[in-house]
Amino acid sequence: MRIGHGYDVHAFTEGDHVWIGGVKIPHDRGVLAHSDGDVALHALCDALLGAAGLGDIGHHFPDRDPQYRGIASGELLRRVVALLHQRGLTVSNADLTLVTQAPRIAPHVATMRQCIAAGLAVGEERVNVKATTSEWLGFTGRGEGLSAFAVVLLHEPNA
Ligand code: MG
Repeated sequence: MRIGHGYDVHAFTEGDHVWIGGVKIPHDRGVLAHSDGDVALHALCDALLGAAGLGDIGHHFPDRDPQYRGIASGELLRRVVALLHQRGLTVSNADLTLVTQAPRIAPHVATMRQCIAAGLAVGEERVNVKATTSEWLGFTGRGEGLSAFAVVLLHEPNA
């Protein structure tokens, strides 16, 4: 078994939607990002890479590299999972916590679980998505941005 943790933040900026957990959610703000700015999938990718001992998302997909401009984070997730599979690692489960005052996450949790499970190549019962506000405190409370935490467990069936 191998455990990994990931954390990501994106600032809100002008826009009309945000991508969170692979789901496009209409909102009165967008996020500042080189990719689609999916804070949940970025935290998840970092947790996966961390568990595998493979560094972090910035190392594999540098934001200085124009080939990753506007890239769908679901594609980054699929590439990370491919790296794990090449090393004989599979995902046991993933647990995500999203922190934002808005938009509301609850209506989208079921779809996020489906998207994340598909990206991880596991059943939905192995993926959990939780959301909380920060009770109006800090940058998330002031509506300046949003953040996400992810914890994953990998196993090595052939180890
Ligand atoms: Mg990010």
